[in-house]
Amino acid sequence: MNKKTVRDIDVAGKRVFLRVDYNVQFDEGEILDDYRLRESIPTLEYLIEQGAKTIICAHRGRPGGKVVEELRNEPVAKHLATLIGREVKSVTDCVGPEVDAAVAAMQPGDLLLLENVRFYAGEEANDPQFAKQLAALADVFVSDAFGTAHRAHASVVGVGYYLPAVAGFLMERELEYVGRVATDGEKPLAVILGGAKVSDKLAILKNLVDRAALICVGGGIANTFLRAQGIDVGASLYEADRIQDAYEVMRLASSRNDLRLLMPTDVVIADAAGTRINTVSVNRIPPGFRILDLGRRTLEDMREALAPMKTVVWNGPVGFFEREPFDRGSIEVARMLADLVGAMTVVGGGETAAAVAKAGVAQHISHVSTGGGASLEMLQGIMLPGVEILRDK
Ligand code: ADP
Ligand code: MG
Repeated sequence: MNKKTVRDIDVAGKRVFLRVDYNVQFDEGEILDDYRLRESIPTLEYLIEQGAKTIICAHRGRPGGKVVEELRNEPVAKHLATLIGREVKSVTDCVGPEVDAAVAAMQPGDLLLLENVRFYAGEEANDPQFAKQLAALADVFVSDAFGTAHRAHASVVGVGYYLPAVAGFLMERELEYVGRVATDGEKPLAVILGGAKVSDKLAILKNLVDRAALICVGGGIANTFLRAQGIDVGASLYEADRIQDAYEVMRLASSRNDLRLLMPTDVVIADAAGTRINTVSVNRIPPGFRILDLGRRTLEDMREALAPMKTVVWNGPVGFFEREPFDRGSIEVARMLADLVGAMTVVGGGETAAAVAKAGVAQHISHVSTGGGASLEMLQGIMLPGVEILRDK
C-alpha cells in the first residue's frame, strides 16, 4: 500500500482526530454486532501506547443533519470501554465549548468519543467550514473509517485538507486485502458473486474478469444468468433488463478457455407460502416456485473448482440466508473459503460478512471487510475519496 500509516508519523503527546466507522445497531441498549469496534482496537491501543490524545469521531445511522436521540454515540463509548478495558469519555457535541473543554482536559493516552457527527448537516455536505472546525480540535488526522471511505464527507475527507492525514491499522488492512484483490491478487483468481442485484455485481465482474479464472454465480443474480440460458426460473426474482449483460458474461467465458463460469445446476426452491421446500435441477422448476438457495451438487462442484485457486473473493450471499433452511448454501460457501489452505480469501459486503459470521468461520478467512459499500466500490475499481485524501508514502 502506498499510503502513509500512523506508524509513519509522530503522534506522541499529539491530539489525534481518529475517524472510525462505528455505525452499529443496538436493540434495547444491547449492541447487535461489535465487529467494527473490535477491529478498531489495534489502532486505539497503538495511540494509547504512544501517549496520543485520541479524539474519536464516528457516525450512526442517518439522522439527516439534526439530533436524533436514539442515534447518540454514548452507548458506543460505553461498549468500547468494556472492549478496551479503559475509560472512554463521551461528549454530547462534535464541536463547540463542551468539546473544547473536554479536549483541553485530555491527558496522553486518553480516549474521547465525539457525538454522532451526522447530527451536523455540514458532515454529509462536506462543508469546508465544518471540516475546519473539526480539524481545529487536533494536530493530525488518522482514518480507520474504511466502511465510510466511499463517502466524501467532512470528517472522512474534509478534515484531511487541514491536517496531515494517514491510515490507521484497520484502514491499512482493508487496503491491503481488498485493494490487492481489486488490482493484483495472486492467480488463479476466483470471484464468487451472489446477492440480489445484478447491476452492482456486474461492475465488479467488469473490473475483475480479465484476471479471473473462475466466476461462480449464486443468489438472486444467478436467476438472471439462468434466464439468459433460456431456463424457466418460475416465480424467482430476476432482472429482465440485465439478461443481455449476463449473456455477454456467458459468451466471454465460453470464448476464453482460461475462464470458467460456474452456474447453478441444482437449486433449493420453495412455493409462495414457503411451506413446500425442495431441491431440484434448474431445468425442473415448477410454476409458482422460487429459487432461494444453491443445491448440494452445485455446492460440491464449487468446492472442487475452488481448490486450486490462490485468491478468492466473495461478495453476496448465494441464497436467502436470513431465513432457514435457505442459509445452508451461504454457510457452505463460507466453510469452503475457510477450508482453502494457501489461498488469500477476501469477503466483501455487509450481508456476506453476516453470512460468514453465521457460519462461525470468520477467523479462518484471510480478511472479512468491515466495509459493505466501500469494499464493493473498491472491487469495482473505484478510488475511494476517503482513501485518496490520505498522504502517499
Ligand atoms: P452484500 O450486502 O453482502 O453486498 P447484497 O446486498 O448484494 O449482499 O445481497 C444480499 C441479499 O441478497 C440478502 O438479503 C439475501 O437474502 C439476498 N438473496 C440472495 N440470494 C437470494 C435469492 N435466491 N432470493 C432472494 N434473495 C436472495
Ligand atoms: Mg447488502
